[in-house]
Amino acid sequence: MLGRKKLLIGGEWRDAASGAVMPVINPATEEVIAEVAAGDAADLDAAVAAARAALTGPWGKMSARERGRLIWKLGERLMEQADEISRLETLHNGKPITESRHVEIPMAADCLQYYAGWADKVQGDTIPVKGNALVYTQRDPLGVVAAIVPWNFPLLIAMWKVAPALATGNTVILKPASQTPLTALALGQLAIDCGFPPGVLNVMTGSGSTLGQAIVSHPGIDKIAFTGDTSTGRGIMRSAADTLKHITLELGGKSPNIVFADADLDAAVRGATVGIFYGKGEVCAAGSRLLVDKSIKDQFISKVAERTKKMVAGDPLDPKTRLGAISSKGQLERVLNYVNIAKTEGASLVAGGSRTDIGTGKGYFMQPTVFADVTPAMTIAREEIFGPVLAAIDFVDVDEAIARANDSIYGLAAGVWTRDIKKAHYVASRLQAGTVWVNTYNVYDTAVPFGGYKQSGFGRDMSRYALDYYTQVKSVWVDLG
Ligand code: NAD
Repeated sequence: MLGRKKLLIGGEWRDAASGAVMPVINPATEEVIAEVAAGDAADLDAAVAAARAALTGPWGKMSARERGRLIWKLGERLMEQADEISRLETLHNGKPITESRHVEIPMAADCLQYYAGWADKVQGDTIPVKGNALVYTQRDPLGVVAAIVPWNFPLLIAMWKVAPALATGNTVILKPASQTPLTALALGQLAIDCGFPPGVLNVMTGSGSTLGQAIVSHPGIDKIAFTGDTSTGRGIMRSAADTLKHITLELGGKSPNIVFADADLDAAVRGATVGIFYGKGEVCAAGSRLLVDKSIKDQFISKVAERTKKMVAGDPLDPKTRLGAISSKGQLERVLNYVNIAKTEGASLVAGGSRTDIGTGKGYFMQPTVFADVTPAMTIAREEIFGPVLAAIDFVDVDEAIARANDSIYGLAAGVWTRDIKKAHYVASRLQAGTVWVNTYNVYDTAVPFGGYKQSGFGRDMSRYALDYYTQVKSVWVDLG
């Protein structure tokens, strides 16, 4: 048991004013591993007051370069503690330790250091105007940014918001998902250790319906940077209207991974499985719709099924494990329900399809699952499952591949597998998706923007583009007449 964790408000650890706590469960063992404070509107008032005060305190007066140095130091500290923080990420999320330690936590530190470099490079313009005046623009912070993040990449997605928000001089209230609060709290302690002034980074744990909703309605918060479910995003957009908050929404996906007959098929088989099974399929950009050229369909899907059957779930803390536990009981039930729907609607199950266990009789483990003969109208072709379930759909030519790929309310990512360079660029240009991967899948870099088209949301995480979503432009006129 990791003990009882408090809220970080104004540089101090505090219990929730109500005294309420929530359990944190290890999905690989079903055990309660910690308790965290269940914050609510009263605690939020205190956090907002601290974050507003910090805007005009030492943080507001700090030079951009000094801010950058502090953020860089936070990235350094995170890497120094990477073993321990990766372990926490795996304990509350169920992902393999190798993913936490070698991918997610290093990427979170990289994100901090990438934006540390931007802190003193966010500039305005001087603008020639009619008349005798000096006109320039400057980019001001928005104020208090609330980052509301999901449970699939808990610390990494938090850093996609926290790092650009801090680099541009905002203060932050970070609300992790209720299932995965431990690494955000650990980051809060690192920020204290690095010397961030009180109130610059506040970490609030609590439920989405109570604390999350209170954040969205709070008049003292200027921006909501949200990643999560599309339906939650719709609700946030509605509620944020009352106080006219800035919002960015990174939402769900149903991304197509398109395999043409002229592709390197072995590479495409690997890409199809990595595309859906990395992170147990709990990846917003997961290539959950496998679109395969009809002429190679049977051969290709049987290779994918063969490879899938070799993937066996294991203890997430074992460095050899590549497939961990589904993040929660509710999520496992949701995924199994989609498997049943797919069978009822007539899709052919060619791999997996059931709950499994790793010999302990405990834990929310699921076999990686592949369905063939899926039609575009079926539920598993339309709805985000957010689990290790692949739906294979065929197409007859390039136009049908593009039409089927775009036939979704979502538009987060897409993959294209072909050796024909002209076809690759043509298809990439016509896909309605925020990211297109050609002959690869699921690769990211902090310097590259990431976000959705259509109902996958708006705004961009990472890259210089994200800086625009944490700043506002001020025009200054100086009369020279
Ligand atoms: P979720 O929407 O249930 O929760 C996300 C966060 O919102 C959590 O912190 C939750 O507590 C909070 N929340 C819930 N209800 C709220 C409310 N009414 N008001 C304010 N906050 C509220 O999503 P999830 O189940 O944690 O995450 C899975 C979803 O996230 C999937 O749809 C996935 O595609 C999406 N996702 C998108 C991206 C992306 O970059 N586009 C990345 C990762 C995950």
